[in-house]
Amino acid sequence: MTRILLVEDEAWMARMLARVLREEGYVVETVADGRSGFARATEVAFDLIVLDWMLPDRSGVQIVRGLRAAEIDVPVLMLTAREQVEDRVAGLDAGADDYLPKPFALPELLARVRALARRPAARQVEASVTAGDLTLDPVRHAVRRGDDLVDLTAREFAFLHALVRRPGQVFSRSVLLDAVWGYRADVASNAVEVCVSHLRKKLDRNGEPSRIRTIRGVGYAFDPRDGR
Ligand code: CA
Repeated sequence: MTRILLVEDEAWMARMLARVLREEGYVVETVADGRSGFARATEVAFDLIVLDWMLPDRSGVQIVRGLRAAEIDVPVLMLTAREQVEDRVAGLDAGADDYLPKPFALPELLARVRALARRPAARQVEASVTAGDLTLDPVRHAVRRGDDLVDLTAREFAFLHALVRRPGQVFSRSVLLDAVWGYRADVASNAVEVCVSHLRKKLDRNGEPSRIRTIRGVGYAFDPRDGR
């Protein structure tokens, strides 16, 4: 089963592409804006993302950059009406794997989808990450502390996941913004602090030092100690 996330704001185009891809046997999920596209791509291990460049809320390039910053290696095929060379370069530089200018012929789209979907990186499903008594499951998007299931938002999960994968490493605010929000323009200036505060409320136990340490003037790090 090959799962494709299709991010396209033009409804007729999204319907047509989804139908053609499903006829080829792909499992297709469609979203119509960049915010949902980025969120779904961080929540689910897709085999391929077909990503429109021009979206109402943010560009495909911003989304790709955010995914790569979050170390999500899913292959990305960008669709765009733009034809200028520098735009193409920008898309590929941001981490897109291939580029298809609109209008395109459907057989060409399908050929590129086939080529990208069989890349080895597309087959890797991220394993669970364990740190002390915390277990993060990126596929199910679930966090356990000991036997307790901890309910996190997609954003909180992405934030914690970034920290826990490298216990002890200090992450600056700007690296975390890139990795978790993927873009800067409409992020509140205190977004990182607010996210840390929510995570601490959910994860920390009374009387224990927080699992998320503040390194003053630098950023944040995850304390991997076994917190029981
Ligand atoms: Ca568009």
